[in-house]
Amino acid sequence: MTPSRTHLPVTGNTRRPEFMLILGSSLTVIAILAIVTFLLIREHANAMQSATRSATNIVQLINADVLRNVELYDLALQGLVAASQRDDLQGVSPQIRHLVLFDRSSSARFKGDLLLLDKQGNVIADSSLLTPKPGNFADRDYFQAHVRSSDTGLFISRPFKPRCDCPDADEWRISFSRRISSPSGEFLGVAVASMRLAYFNELLSALNIGIDSTLNVLDKDGILLAQVPMLETDSIGRSYGARPNVARMLREGTGSFSSISSLDQRGRLYTFSRVGNLPLTVSVALSLDEVFATWKRTAYIISGATGALCIGLMWLTLLLCRELRLRHHAEKELAQQAAVDALTGVANRRTLDQVLKREWSRAMRSGKPLSVLMIDADHFKAFNDRHGHQGGDDALRVLAKVIGENIRRPADLVARYGGEEFAVVLAETDAAGALRTAEKIRAAVEHMSSFEGDESPMTVSIGLSTSTAEPGQDLENLMHTADKALYEAKRRGRNCVVSALG
Ligand code: GH3
Ligand code: MG
Ligand code: MG
Repeated sequence: MTPSRTHLPVTGNTRRPEFMLILGSSLTVIAILAIVTFLLIREHANAMQSATRSATNIVQLINADVLRNVELYDLALQGLVAASQRDDLQGVSPQIRHLVLFDRSSSARFKGDLLLLDKQGNVIADSSLLTPKPGNFADRDYFQAHVRSSDTGLFISRPFKPRCDCPDADEWRISFSRRISSPSGEFLGVAVASMRLAYFNELLSALNIGIDSTLNVLDKDGILLAQVPMLETDSIGRSYGARPNVARMLREGTGSFSSISSLDQRGRLYTFSRVGNLPLTVSVALSLDEVFATWKRTAYIISGATGALCIGLMWLTLLLCRELRLRHHAEKELAQQAAVDALTGVANRRTLDQVLKREWSRAMRSGKPLSVLMIDADHFKAFNDRHGHQGGDDALRVLAKVIGENIRRPADLVARYGGEEFAVVLAETDAAGALRTAEKIRAAVEHMSSFEGDESPMTVSIGLSTSTAEPGQDLENLMHTADKALYEAKRRGRNCVVSALG
C-alpha cells in the first residue's frame, strides 16, 4: 500500500551537490585542456621560430660567401675592362699586355677562363693562354645583353656547359661579365669570367640541415643553379620560376613562409634571401616533419597524459556522483521510514506532530481555520477477536486507505494516531467543511465491503475540532477538544460524527 497524503518533512534540492560536482569537474577539465592546448600552440610557434632563425643564419652564411666570391670575380672583370681601355698597351709585348690585362685576375675558387671579347664576340685575350684560342661568343646571352644595353653592370648568365673538348666540359658553369664601352658609350666588347657551379655545391654540402631538407641557389628567373641534396635528376639549369613557392620567393626577395612543396607534396619551411644586389636567391627548404618532430613527440605524450588525467577525473566524479546518489537514496528511505507508519503506510505520530505544529503556526499567522478529526474504529477489540490479529491489521490498512481516499487537498494529512485510532489534519478548513469530510469518511467506512464472514460492518466514530484563532487557544487545546468530541461520539452510540468548537 502506498502512503496516502503524507507530507514528509524531508525536502531540499538533493540534485544540487551532484550538479555542482559535475560542473566543477567539467570546468577543471576544460581549464586543463585549455592550458595544455595553449602550451602546445606556444611550443609549436617556438619550434617554428627557432627553425626560421637557424635557417636564416644558414642563408646569411651562404649569402656572405657567395657575395665575397662574386666580388672577386667582379674585381677581376673590372681590372680587365680598365686595362683593355688603356691606349699604352698597343705597343707592348704580348707577355706584358697579358700581365696587365689579367693583373687583377683573382684567385677565386672554381674560376674558369677570364676572356676578353671584341665587339663581334671574338676572343681577343684569354687569362689562361698567351695566344687565345679562336672562338666567338656573340650568341651568348651575356653578350647580347651587353650589346643591347650600356648600363647592365655585372651580368650573370644562365647556366651553360662549355663549348670545348676539355675534360670538365660536362660541368655546369655560369659566367659573370661586364661591358667595355668607349668614352662616348659605344660598345667595344665584353670582359667575361666563368665559374663552375661546383662552387655552390661544395659550399652547400658543407652545411648539415637534415635529411628531408634542401638548400637551393636560384637565379632571377628561377633557374636552379645548385641544390643540395638534389631532389630531381637533371634539375640544374631548369627553370622553376613558374612554381608557386619559387615565384613567391623571387617576388618577395627575402623572408620566410611554410608551404607544400610541389615536388614531393610535403610541408616545408622556406627561408630565403637575395644575395646582396645580385640576381641570385639562396633558399633553405626545411622539412616541416623534421622541424616539428620533437614538438610532435612532446605533444603526443602530453596530450595522452592530459587525456588520461581528464578521463580519470571525470570517471572519479561520476563514481562520486553515484555514491552520492546511493547515499541520498538511503537517507531518503530512512527519512521515509522515520515519517511513515509501517503498518498502514500513512504518516506516523511523529510526522503528525510536526505537521500539526506547522499548520497551527500557519493558521495563527493567516487567521484561517484549522480542523482536526480524531477517528477511532468502533469495537475493534471485538473485531480482532473475530478475525484474529492479522485480520485486524488488514482492516487497519483498509481503513487508512478509505480515510485517505476521502481527503482531497494536498495540504491535508492522514496519520495513525495510535492503535486503531487515526487523525486527519484539514488545513484552512472551517467546522462546516470538516464536518462534511468527517461525515464522508464515516459513511465510506460504513459502506465499504464487509470483511469475510463478518455480518456487522466496520464503523468509525469521529470527533471534530476546529480552531477559531481566539486568544488563549493552543494546539493542545484543539487536540483535547477533538478527543472530547470523539469520546462524545462513542457515548452517543458510535458510528457518528461529533463536532466541538476548539
Ligand atoms: P471502542 O468502540 O470503544 O473504541 O472499542 P474498541 O474495542 O475499539 O476499543 P478498545 O480501546 O477497547 O480496544 C482497541 C483495540 O484495538 C485493542 C487492540 O486489540 C486493537 N488494536 C490496537 N492496535 C492494533 C493493531 O495494530 N493491530 C490490531 N490487529 N489490533 C490493534
Ligand atoms: Mg481506541
Ligand atoms: Mg476503538
